[in-house]
Amino acid sequence: MSQAVLQLEKVRKSFGSEVVLEDISFKVLEHKATVFIGASGSGKSTLLRCINLLDQIDDGQILLDGQDISAADVNPDEVRKKLGMVFQSFNLFPHMTVLENVILAPTKVQKVAKEKAIDEALELLNKFGLREKADQYPDRLSGGQQQRVAIIRSLSRHPRLLLLDEITSALDPVLVNEVLSTVRDLKSEGMTMVLATHEMGFAKQVADELCYLHQGRILEWGSPKKILENPKKVETKEFLRRLHQAGRL
Ligand code: ADP
Ligand code: MG
Repeated sequence: MSQAVLQLEKVRKSFGSEVVLEDISFKVLEHKATVFIGASGSGKSTLLRCINLLDQIDDGQILLDGQDISAADVNPDEVRKKLGMVFQSFNLFPHMTVLENVILAPTKVQKVAKEKAIDEALELLNKFGLREKADQYPDRLSGGQQQRVAIIRSLSRHPRLLLLDEITSALDPVLVNEVLSTVRDLKSEGMTMVLATHEMGFAKQVADELCYLHQGRILEWGSPKKILENPKKVETKEFLRRLHQAGRL
């Protein structure tokens, strides 16, 4: 079996006296996607932020390609070069064009020559149908297009692992599909990913493993089919029942 791209071992995180993540262990193999579902406040964003070293864990280990990135002597900037992260709300710089947004990390952080970065950026924009937006400012794009640019920007670093945190939750329902379809494309190309989402249909399509997070613990995990169609824990059943009631399942 191949080595995991990402492995968490008994990760624990608290804010003050509030324990937000407890006993979190899972691995993500290359080309696989692990999807986290769970109520608001269950710890999904904190988990992704911990993996990206934006929040520091209190206990346990986070291994990226076998390297302990949670160790005290690790340089977070070096680790983040290998990770792409996209958040819920758009994170494009409003004063930069689409192209400038996309080449920022490669040129400034990874010291790629500007010409090369531009070529690569245009190729990515072209691939995802946004080539003609290259010279526009973000506010001229729809929310869905902006979020796709944010995904493209995270790809410009050639990440080993992509972290996506509820990337459609700030979007109009009609714009959700174009963003999800971009993620499906990436998955079929073999990108390794960890996602948090409240789109269960999408979770079912892309997840190799689905984890139900409840009050900071992975309460149930397995194939999407198993979790969504045959949940074992009473809390998972209740979560899915509420989604169903709200018409979201
Ligand atoms: P989710 O993404 O599943 O909605 P979060 O990870 O955002 O959950 O939040 C989990 C818990 O951690 C919540 O109770 C939230 O209030 C708390 N929390 C998140 N970030 C911070 C922070 N920076 N300081 C204090 N508490 C926080
Ligand atoms: Mg969140």
